[in-house]
Amino acid sequence: MNHDEHCIFCKIVKGEIPAYKVYEDENVLAFLDISQVTKGHTLVIPKEHYKDIFALPAEAAGKLFAAVPAVAAAIKESFDPIGLNVLNNNGEPAGQSVFHYHVHIIPRYGKGDGFG
Ligand code: 5GP
Ligand code: ZN
Repeated sequence: MNHDEHCIFCKIVKGEIPAYKVYEDENVLAFLDISQVTKGHTLVIPKEHYKDIFALPAEAAGKLFAAVPAVAAAIKESFDPIGLNVLNNNGEPAGQSVFHYHVHIIPRYGKGDGFG
């Protein structure tokens, strides 16, 4: 599998640093963000290292987004939000800070929930 030895998310995939897992399958891992903007803020990543959407093959994107409804259901079950945002930043000017492709799932609880 394609990994980058210096990448923090590859280290999470390999179990070298801990994360609270929300969902996992053969190709995809979802875990709580270390700095949650709302309760249950989760990151969904391909297990293989692709730095951003420009590097992400369509097949890997398909496998990742195929898992997103199951991740959303797990978050709904655990945190009971009334909505959620699905977001992805690509490149520094767009706010990307970890260069292993990831999708943010941000549960929403109504006005004053701390996001947006
Ligand atoms: P970006 O800014 O690249 O779209 O999002 C990167 C996200 O990764 C941030 O929300 C940040 O809090 C999260 N993050 C950075 N390092 C770690 C880590 O070691 N563990 C976890 N669980 N999340 C991390
Ligand atoms: Zn990586």
